[in-house]
Amino acid sequence: MLEIIKELQLAIGKEKVLLGEDVSDRYYHIWHMNDGLKAKAVTLPQSTHEVSSICKICTKHNQEVIVFGGLTNLVGSTETKGHEIIISMERMNKIEEVDPLSRTMTVQSGVILENIQSLAKDHELLFPLNFGAKGSAQIGGCISTNAGGLRVLKYGMTRSLVLGLEIVLMDGTILSSLKKIVKDNSAYDIKQMFVGSEGTLGIVTKAVLKLIEAPKSRNSAFLAFNDYEKLVKFLKFLDKELAGALSGFEVIWRNSYEVMTGTGANHKAPIPHGFKYYVLVESLGADQKRDREKLQEIIEKAILDELAEDAVMAFTDSDLNWFWAIREDVKIMADQGNYDQHFDVSAPINALGQYVDEVEAQINALDEVVAAFPFGHLADGNIHFIVAKNNQSNELKDKINDLVYKPLTSLGGSVSAEHGIGVHKKKYLALCRNETEITLMKTLKKTLDPKGLLNPGKVLDLE
Ligand SMILES: Cc1cc2nc3c(=O)[nH]c(=O)nc-3n(C[C@H](O)[C@H](O)[C@H](O)COP(=O)(O)OP(=O)(O)OC[C@H]3O[C@@H](n4cnc5c(N)ncnc54)[C@H](O)[C@@H]3O)c2cc1C
Repeated sequence: MLEIIKELQLAIGKEKVLLGEDVSDRYYHIWHMNDGLKAKAVTLPQSTHEVSSICKICTKHNQEVIVFGGLTNLVGSTETKGHEIIISMERMNKIEEVDPLSRTMTVQSGVILENIQSLAKDHELLFPLNFGAKGSAQIGGCISTNAGGLRVLKYGMTRSLVLGLEIVLMDGTILSSLKKIVKDNSAYDIKQMFVGSEGTLGIVTKAVLKLIEAPKSRNSAFLAFNDYEKLVKFLKFLDKELAGALSGFEVIWRNSYEVMTGTGANHKAPIPHGFKYYVLVESLGADQKRDREKLQEIIEKAILDELAEDAVMAFTDSDLNWFWAIREDVKIMADQGNYDQHFDVSAPINALGQYVDEVEAQINALDEVVAAFPFGHLADGNIHFIVAKNNQSNELKDKINDLVYKPLTSLGGSVSAEHGIGVHKKKYLALCRNETEITLMKTLKKTLDPKGLLNPGKVLDLE
């Protein structure tokens, strides 16, 4: 047996170092459960000290490691080649404390996002981070990708919900700052450097999360539009009238909506097919009846003023669940072809309408593309495309990437609004980050992980 495996077994226990079939029975992504995992070993640490021991041993042996969270990323960042050792955070799944007065929750990084949401709810509090993969994504993965999702408009990205972090560096150093304070301007905010670094700078082992008082009302409506300018005017009008209560503004383009609610879909359509844009809005507030009336009043005015074409309110919890299940069921778009490609780009809101029209038309004109499906968090300037296709060639992949990414430079946009760079977007990073920024990123990586062992080949290539 390899020396490194013996040392790992001695350090954390034999049962926490998986080898052979116990490795190949696993997977590297929730959407590829039948493709066996290729890796030298999978380690299952249960404490920060065990993570630190694994890192020290791997550094000593110049061993590359990949950190596994809930395996829901969309940028290939948990793909392996076979020679790596995996550090899977799944057993670091304890919620250590809920402090209702300070409104914080202290968690190990392997806790599933949905469990954090439910426990906060039990304390009449809210952890607002929310997106389709909440039942599998771990909080450590969310922090490492600075996940966004459905309520960024009101509560910000994961970054704004993290008060404290504990990190293990590749040399085994434990960097702990598990404070519960919101304000801390005592020099550099080091923890923020690790948020969104996709596990390339350090391993998140614990976090102190910020909780919010739970809203007492939740209201939603679906609306239909045919004109992008009117849609954007409606967003401005709605946000102004709701005065801080607007928490979600999701736009679904026509062909995406028709697949999500058409023949063979899991949901029926709340508004008939045939409009160009469908918008799902959410407001969170203090009084269910009054807030619903307010939302309804705003929507009626939008219809009267001929901003919106059609609308339907959610009147019951089951309506709310129905509306949001439509938006979260994005896999149905990927399932339209044998293969799929995912995008999460951002650009100024006023430029997005034309950008989507042009990109969608160009992609749809390509042979072996079934369709491009646009939808997204428009109020954040963030659009997703899922491209369903019947060919996996790199040539087609690159062609589609170029069509989506290249126009973003002149628009002042980003190739990744929220999913990160991972492996898939590395060669497009320079379209939205300048040379000085990329050089500084490389310096940071080389300082914290001089041997380049942690999540190698992700985000940046270090020449
Ligand atoms: C259906 C679906 C919907 C989605 N919707 C959204 C959305 O709306 N918004 C959004 O932002 N994302 C979305 N995603 C993407 C994904 O869910 C997020 O990126 C999520 O934050 C990844 O968490 P994870 O635990 O699955 O991480 P993984 O996929 O396991 O890992 C992601 C990256 O983080 C690293 N990592 C994981 N855990 C740690 C740790 N403890 N310390 C250091 N590095 C770590 C990994 O090495 C990898 O580089 C969606 C994904 C799916 C499948």
